[in-house]
Amino acid sequence: MNSRKGFSEFKRGIEEKAEETGYALNPDRKALDMLFEGLYRNLERYGYPSCPCRLAEGVFEKDIDIICPCLYRDPDLYYHGRCYCSLYVNEDYIEKRKGQGPIPERRPMKRAAISKVGDRIGVKNVGERYRCNICGNEVTVTKVGGGVLVCCGEEMELIQ
Ligand code: SF4
Repeated sequence: MNSRKGFSEFKRGIEEKAEETGYALNPDRKALDMLFEGLYRNLERYGYPSCPCRLAEGVFEKDIDIICPCLYRDPDLYYHGRCYCSLYVNEDYIEKRKGQGPIPERRPMKRAAISKVGDRIGVKNVGERYRCNICGNEVTVTKVGGGVLVCCGEEMELIQ
């Protein structure tokens, strides 16, 4: 790891940026420091601070959506009161109104899973019903395209 000075500057940069832009960081100092360490480790490893809670590929173009702050931070703050890692939080989370349990992964399905799913035929018949076991969305097929239905980053379950 680079010098502690580099780490301290990195951490301070995130804290200052959060303050300037009106975002709150997790008040749990221990959790926050672990996330800063993870981000800094990824910065050293890949050259950019990819999300410490997700597996990066190490290719900037492929990881661009999960470079912190990721593309998913704001919708997760809105719906769950915190980002996926809980680095950024809002009042809903602090006051325990939202985001106390695990939150669904908003990032589209992982590449490995996409290629696995791509080998199979999914939807077969009009009228099939599928459910997302993470958020509870249910959909009914009105036209068959043959692909696999995905929600919250996971394949949906055929229920009927
Ligand atoms: S989930 Fe949070 S820590 Fe992870 S990249 Fe997004 S904003 Fe950063």
